[in-house]
Amino acid sequence: MDEIARIRARLVLAARVIITDHWPTTDRPDWCPICNCPWKCWPLATAYAYLRLEGQHLWTPPHAR
Ligand SMILES: [Zn+2]
Repeated sequence: MDEIARIRARLVLAARVIITDHWPTTDRPDWCPICNCPWKCWPLATAYAYLRLEGQHLWTPPHAR
């Protein structure tokens, strides 16, 4: 794996961590527990925008499946 591919893989993982952190809890499905604002919050939208560039925007956190 070359250096660019490694960096891209790391960014995908970082985006997934952000999405997992900013995913609503089951008792409050329209609320971001990190930003304390209505969901979807901008960090989650930004992380998904990156995953879209990589064609992985259909990903959801394991606990949300
Ligand atoms: Zn958030």
